Amino acid sequence: MKVCVVGSGGREHALAVVLARHHEVVVTPGNPGIPGSLDAPPTEVDADLHVIGPEAPLVAGLADELRADGRLVFGPGADGAHLEGSKAWMKDVLVDAGVPTARHGTFDAAEPAFAFLDSLDGLYVVKTDGLAAGKGVLVTSDLAEARSAVTDYLSGEAFGDAGRTVVIEEGLTGPELSVLAVCDGHRAVALPAAQDFKRAGDGDAGPNTGGMGAYSPVPTAGADVVAMVMDDAVAPTLEALRARGIDYRGVLYAGLMLTPSGPKVLEYNVRFGDPETQVVLPRLTSDLGELLAGAAEGSLGAAPTVDDGAAVTVVCAAEGYPRSVRTGDPIDGLDAARGVAGVSVFCAGVAAGPDGGLVTAGGRVLAVTGQGADLAQARSRAYEAVGHVSWPGLHHRNDIAAAAVADLDATGPR
Ligand code: AMP
Repeated sequence: MKVCVVGSGGREHALAVVLARHHEVVVTPGNPGIPGSLDAPPTEVDADLHVIGPEAPLVAGLADELRADGRLVFGPGADGAHLEGSKAWMKDVLVDAGVPTARHGTFDAAEPAFAFLDSLDGLYVVKTDGLAAGKGVLVTSDLAEARSAVTDYLSGEAFGDAGRTVVIEEGLTGPELSVLAVCDGHRAVALPAAQDFKRAGDGDAGPNTGGMGAYSPVPTAGADVVAMVMDDAVAPTLEALRARGIDYRGVLYAGLMLTPSGPKVLEYNVRFGDPETQVVLPRLTSDLGELLAGAAEGSLGAAPTVDDGAAVTVVCAAEGYPRSVRTGDPIDGLDAARGVAGVSVFCAGVAAGPDGGLVTAGGRVLAVTGQGADLAQARSRAYEAVGHVSWPGLHHRNDIAAAAVADLDATGPR
């Protein structure tokens, strides 16, 4: 099969590498660090299967356009992608479907929003309704800060039109979990669970980012937790979408919090997570292309099989990320990093340099994934490889999967 992956980041690089175990793969537009990158619009690439990576083209209806042209596509149409395009609509679907989620209200005026904030219990969450590049969520215990965010969002000052409607939620607490479900419109199968790290700094300090690392499996979320998420969240959501006439064929990525009263859905994304993809997909032992093609055809095959080991990915970011970043710095040490056993380096914000090498070209530059027999080995391989990579201003977290490894050391595998 020839597969066309749409997108240009580390997620798409990981998709391409894992699909290429069994299939011919091209990536559009890709980037100079992804083999098979092709400078052609997705509509002009002939392939047996198109796999769309990022949310923006999904929300804009690329899957519909390709399907109208008779292509086989993995990725929801604009109707299903609205789950990520509007948090207010997503919450309506969750409530209709009876999926456990944080109590919320949707507002386009300040006074009722302030009144709702007053009704909450000391942890306030304010979100833009629309897409805000992963930055439109404020979680705070400071009521004044929450109120001022509401004012800034609603005025359009903070996030333009994306913030003119806000979703306010009660704050939940607990460890977070990402479950990526592959859906064929009716049925869904889970990929192995992962945990990502959203904050820029060690110990969850600093600003929110697109994600600074991830690991899989998650020892505290075994098969029982994943099965609960599939039964109590993903299946009823697919049914609620079907009741709205939406044939959802793509990834439904549930961002969950494991609260003391059980798993609750914080959000749905309509595509593979980045950087979760860089740890989840390398662990597959079955054919990813066959899985995605089955889902795209509306007839999902067997559940994927997964190795017994573990994967840890560490994102190497450019100076300044997640604020304004410096670009154009030459990236050194890629070959040495790739030479570490069990390591894959996925390229995201990179461009071709003058001497045939790569230079930094975005905030998140590389995701360095280590695989091993367990989380400890995967983690040490990932960090050994990260140690080989350099450019001025490179920064990364030092504590990806550290707590999970320490817990396992203390308690043994669950
Ligand atoms: P979202 O884009 O909705 O996933 O939110 C981004 C991040 O904000 C999540 O990964 C959580 O860390 C945090 N968050 C979102 N909603 C809540 C909530 N209701 N309670 C506590 N934290 C939340």
